[in-house]
This record gives sequence, C-alpha cells and structure tokens, in this order.
Amino acid sequence: MYSLKKKSLSIATTVYWILLLYIITALVWWFIELKNQNQQMTNYRISELNSKDPAIQKKKDQINRENNRKTTQYVLEGITFLALILVGAVFIYRAVRRQFKLQAQQQNFMMAITHELKTPIAVTKLNLETLQKHQLDESMKQKVLSMTIQEADRLANLANNILVSAQLEGRNYKQAPEDLDLSSLVETCVNEFIRRYSDRNFILQIQPEIDFIGDVFLLEIMLNNLLENAVKYAPADRPVICRLQKNGKVIELHVIDEGPGIPDKEKRNIFEKFYRLGSEQTRQTKGTGLGLNLCRKIAHDHHGYIRVRDNEPVGSDFAVIFDK
Ligand code: ADP
Repeated sequence: MYSLKKKSLSIATTVYWILLLYIITALVWWFIELKNQNQQMTNYRISELNSKDPAIQKKKDQINRENNRKTTQYVLEGITFLALILVGAVFIYRAVRRQFKLQAQQQNFMMAITHELKTPIAVTKLNLETLQKHQLDESMKQKVLSMTIQEADRLANLANNILVSAQLEGRNYKQAPEDLDLSSLVETCVNEFIRRYSDRNFILQIQPEIDFIGDVFLLEIMLNNLLENAVKYAPADRPVICRLQKNGKVIELHVIDEGPGIPDKEKRNIFEKFYRLGSEQTRQTKGTGLGLNLCRKIAHDHHGYIRVRDNEPVGSDFAVIFDK
C-alpha cells in the first residue's frame, strides 16, 4: 500500500516536471517567434521606404526605435508570465506534496489507531477473564487490576485526544477559561502519574501558587500527553522531571526526560498531526501521532507555544511557554 503511494507520488512528480518544462519551453519559443516576427516586420518596413526620401534616416531610426520598444515589451511580458508560472508551479508543487504526505500520515494513523484500540480491549478482556476463572492471591490480583486500569487509562487518553483534536479543529469545543492555580493543577496531574506508574521516578520542581487563566480540561490533556510521552519513550529506570516556574510575566512548564531525544531535523515535524518518528513497520512504541499536535493547539489557545530542546546529557526537554 505504502509503495503504491510512493509510486503514484513519483508519477505525479514526473508529469508535473514534464508539464512545467513544456510550458517554459513554449514560453521561450513564443518569445523567439515574436521577436523574429517583429524583426521581419521592421526589415520589411525599412525596405518599403523610398530611398530618395530626404527624411529616410529619421524614418529608419523611428522604425528601429519601435522595434526596440516592442522587444522590451515582449521581454517584460515574458518575465512577468514566467514569474507567474513559477510562483504557481511552486504553490502547486508544495500543495500536492503536502496532500500526499497527509494521506500517508492518515494511513499510518489508521493503522496505529486500529492497533491502539484493539490492544487495550484485548488485554482488559483477558485480565478480567483471568480474574473470573482463577483464584489469584491478593498481590497477583492487585497487579492484574492495576494493569487493567493502565489499559483503561490509555484508552480514555486516546479517546480524549481524538475527540478534543476533532472538536478544536472544527471549532466545536467551547472553552471554559477560569482563574486557576496552575501549580496545583500540575501537581495533581503528576501525582496521578505517580499513582499509575508507581515503579517510575517523577521529580516535581513546582513553584507554588502560580495563577493562570485557562481551560482545566485542555491543560490537563496537554500535560498528560507530555508526561505520557516521557514515560513511553524514556527508559523505565530514568527519572522524569516536571518543572513549573514563573519569571516576571513568563510561565514555563517543562517535562524533561532522559529518553532517546529528538533529532534536530525532526524537532518541528513532531508537532505535525499524525507525525511519528521512524516508519510504521519499524516503530516499537504505541501511539497515533496526535498528542503533540494537540499540545501545540492547546498551548496556542492559551496564548503560548510549545518547543522541544535537547536535555543534557541525554533526552528531551519539552517546554510550554506562556508569555502573554
Ligand atoms: P505518539 O506518541 O502517539 O506517537 P505524539 O504526537 O505524542 O504521538 O509524538 C510524536 C512523535 O514524537 C512520537 O511518535 C515520537 O517519535 C516523538 N516523541 C514524542 N515525545 C517524545 C519523547 N519524550 N522522547 C522521544 N521521542 C518523543
């Protein structure tokens, strides 16, 4: 399926270049033809002049001046036309490539989402059947239950991401901004992660009582996605830092991990919708490529922005900055 997409993209690209080349060649040919015709007309008009006419030189000069004026007119028209064609060509080229890229990503998304939906449902069913059929000791029972809750959380997270992303895009989500204590909101979210991932090490560096106006639900989704990624992509024995600080009017929320980090050339791409690093075949971790795009939208909606930098010595430092 993927190679089919690649093939149709290369066919479309070849047809595009051939057409563009044809148009430019036609334009150059048209220019040469016009110039030749103009020259022939000039020669003809000069040959038609009466050689005994005392004003012949003046008339010749006049005809030559007209010839030059026409040539300049053709050159200028040609350049304008060429510029318009090139601008249009660049525009079409970019639009077509974007369309193909989006199609490929949507296909990846469909593959990922099928897997993402099926796995938690299958795991939950299996766990519940195990609890129903077998008498497990208490500690085993707790382990199976917490695994099931984790799967349910993942499913809820996925459903939230899909719904909110669609609602924000269709402008159907009615935001409910309110005065809130951002420090407590962040602390509550991280504590929920500490509960869910009791074997992971979360470090909280939160400046207390930072006031903020925002939509609680959206802010929680944003932070949950960043924390979820840190847990997902970084090794289990490495800490995840969540930092919230305010300097003057600028509020910074960081989620820092010691995972593989993001290559420089991918630092912008990862915020695009459905974008995931690597190919769907080689990808180890689960995901849909929606999370960071949603984080970017939510940050924008709160008059802020999101960026990623390298963490030293390893990992990534995702920061949401509210500076307005
Ligand atoms: P998902 O995690 O569902 O694939 P995201 O939009 O959250 O989608 O992330 C997009 C991509 O960015 C991921 O597929 C992953 O390759 C990369 N990424 C995100 N967060 C991290 C992180 N903390 N460390 C390394 N890579 C990350």
